[in-house]
Amino acid sequence: MVLSLDNSDLTVRVLGCSGSYAAPGNPCSGYLVQSPGATVLLDCGPGVLGPLQEATSFDDLTAIVITHAHGDHWLELPMIHTAYKWFHPRDFEERPIVYLTGQTRWLYFRLSVQRVAIRALYDVGLPSESHYGIVDQLVDVSGRPKPVLKWFWRSLPVGGSLVEDRGSSSLPGQDIKSGSEASIGDQRWRFSRTRHGRTETYAVRVDSVGGRSFAFSSDTGPGWDFRSLGEDIDLAMCEASHSATCNRRSNLHMTPREAVDATTIAGIQRLVITHVAPCCDPDEQTAEASSIFRGSVEVARPGLVLNV
Ligand SMILES: [Zn+2]
Ligand SMILES: [Zn+2]
Repeated sequence: MVLSLDNSDLTVRVLGCSGSYAAPGNPCSGYLVQSPGATVLLDCGPGVLGPLQEATSFDDLTAIVITHAHGDHWLELPMIHTAYKWFHPRDFEERPIVYLTGQTRWLYFRLSVQRVAIRALYDVGLPSESHYGIVDQLVDVSGRPKPVLKWFWRSLPVGGSLVEDRGSSSLPGQDIKSGSEASIGDQRWRFSRTRHGRTETYAVRVDSVGGRSFAFSSDTGPGWDFRSLGEDIDLAMCEASHSATCNRRSNLHMTPREAVDATTIAGIQRLVITHVAPCCDPDEQTAEASSIFRGSVEVARPGLVLNV
């Protein structure tokens, strides 16, 4: 079932939008992108599963897109596996595909290997303190499996099945790269790498059948802009993590002015500020952007529904 949509065939619901870590009443990144033919969870940061279930159900989720490997964008993903394994069983082919970067897949693979290995070692009765050393023998510091695990890695389906065995709790995975495109139900997705240090991070664009288009910057520092996602974007959601005067700002994130510049240069008229760090005030970030942007500016908040 997909929600009925008023006067738009594409909506974006904010589940959480706090930058870097959750704020009171605001989980980390998670957005629900809905059209008549698809319901997609865009990022799965800590805390988003509560508001996700207020908006839809696990049974209606078509796909999950994880923009990069930072924990505030994906660390609730293991809980989705738990939900499908124990509470919402579906055939493997009917579970939502997870679109993710190679870095995220490696991190998740390592987590999965440790989980499986520790459980297996408990089963054979080894003392707990020896478990971790054995697991470290299987996986090197970068998360790559050592030769003893190569057979396990080779056994995974193309794109990487995310955890454990195919039959119980794994989700199908698909790697994303710059320029990747994907058809998810009736939504057309494309990806563009941002400037977020050495972390492979992708901004996304979603086009609906009706010709509406939504773009999300994910995390990026200055130097990236929405032109890399093409023309005629109706709504841009751009991160503005820190104010210009914030003493915690870095070149990994944008200020409101930089978000405005990244939007204006692409000719976009509608901007939503998001990923504001808990140390900064969303209203001040919005006011700063509004003072220099010629179009409309809103700020993302949990529960906000945007008709694209
Ligand atoms: Zn982030
Ligand atoms: Zn990040």
